[in-house]
Amino acid sequence: MRAVKMPRICFCILLLLTAPASLWAQSGKIVIAHRGASGYLPEHTLAAKAMAHAMGADYIEQDLVMTRDNELIVLHDLTLERTTDVAERFPGRARGDGGFYAIDFDLAEIRQLRASEGLRLPGGDPVTGDPETHYPNRFPPGLSRFGVATFAEEIELIQGLNHATGREVGIYPEIKQPEFHRAEGRDISSAVIDTLKRYGYTAKSDKVFLQTFSFAELAIIRGEILPAAGIDIRLVQLVGDPEAYPWMFEPGGMALLAEQADGIGPAHPLIIDPESAPGSLRVSGLVERAHAAGLQVHPYTFRADPGRLPPYAASFAELLEQHYFTAGVDGAFTDFPDLAVQFLRSR
Ligand code: CA
Repeated sequence: MRAVKMPRICFCILLLLTAPASLWAQSGKIVIAHRGASGYLPEHTLAAKAMAHAMGADYIEQDLVMTRDNELIVLHDLTLERTTDVAERFPGRARGDGGFYAIDFDLAEIRQLRASEGLRLPGGDPVTGDPETHYPNRFPPGLSRFGVATFAEEIELIQGLNHATGREVGIYPEIKQPEFHRAEGRDISSAVIDTLKRYGYTAKSDKVFLQTFSFAELAIIRGEILPAAGIDIRLVQLVGDPEAYPWMFEPGGMALLAEQADGIGPAHPLIIDPESAPGSLRVSGLVERAHAAGLQVHPYTFRADPGRLPPYAASFAELLEQHYFTAGVDGAFTDFPDLAVQFLRSR
């Protein structure tokens, strides 16, 4: 607990004395702030994380990539151009594919960049395919001044806010593309585990979930990296494309996964069919199968931006109701943590 300069045991007692025992917390369902309060402030900036903390999120997400000098930074993409001014500040530093890869820059260079609301959506607009679009109702791109934070800086922000507010908001780091990092000669997972251990996240009872899309990496983390570090934390297997790991969806698949993981983070269309008609939801058996194997289920990503609700939900609250209570998920990643917290409090 470098940030709070206070023995951990005292900190825990303080939390026990001050933590409000709300009914919604007792339900066990959690709100995960996806890239922070990214519906309101540029994703993964410390401002967006502070706002998510103030909004009452239970966990705040960090996507992690490495710099050339082996620092962990909080960035969703492997490249910097969607969310920073890297192309103007460091012209000529792109690879042949046009990408300004974070791993080609030292932290001192990345600290010179201005972060911004993304000028385009990853993969372009899902409806029109337009690569230049963004969320028009969100924080305007280019305004004010934001930067890219390191993983350590973000943990210190959250632990500092926990100390100052008497709350215990958790962290939810994601190791981005571990195979890419290995191909670049880096062991990003060991670096992440080292940082977690340094900041006191060492047991399954600590408020951290570590997530990745790579099952192979998850098995290495569970089987080798955590034992070598002498710690044990909860691991979450992200599931986007069911074709990536078809065995997970076969009978016994979830039980096999549960040997390595404590939870799954599926894309929400894998839980409720996006073609469902209002009033007749087609709920897959995924949550049931995961729960039967002892896995928690934390789907992503719930967004309240105009025009982005699936057709089966009349409102954002109804979308949350359908997932948290009809399908029975344990938590949800959302860009709008205030709305999910309000929903669970009202329920
Ligand atoms: Ca993520």
